[in-house]
Amino acid sequence: MKGPHKLAANPCPCGRHGTMAGGCECRPSSISRYRARLSGPLMDRIDLRIAVEPVARSELVAGARGESTADVADRIRAARERAAHRFAGTPWQTNNEVPGHELRTRWTVAPGALVQAERDLENGLLTARGLDRVLRVAWTAADLAGRDRPTAEDVDWSLELRTGVRRGIPLAVSRT
Ligand SMILES: [Zn+2]
Repeated sequence: MKGPHKLAANPCPCGRHGTMAGGCECRPSSISRYRARLSGPLMDRIDLRIAVEPVARSELVAGARGESTADVADRIRAARERAAHRFAGTPWQTNNEVPGHELRTRWTVAPGALVQAERDLENGLLTARGLDRVLRVAWTAADLAGRDRPTAEDVDWSLELRTGVRRGIPLAVSRT
């Protein structure tokens, strides 16, 4: 399949569990039944998991803040060029297209960058397929930051997005 696929799910039947606004009165049993509907094999294919707070009406009116769309587009273009340069002479153009085995053997991450990922693998927090997907996202993070290869920070950021376990890496729009 081509391109990113996006899924959205509420944290519980009423959608308020764990939000800053609060007010969820769902029973724990109904929350776990609700979440069990997102199966393991499906979740294993989801690389980026981000908790989103409900947007207040005043924020919608104020409009988007932060980086402009043009700035983000420039950064993505530069990251794509960096990846294309790395993939010169290969059949691939993006990190997403590289088969897991090739990704693990052809290009190396920074020394020690996989320490936490290996720990997560041992603890069962991460599957082998999950590790390949973490690596793809880590390479994308490195490309966006203009680095030659992923550092421990890039891998940990990718792990945090995948597993939902905080690694002390701040999630932000701009990581430069
Ligand atoms: Zn609820």
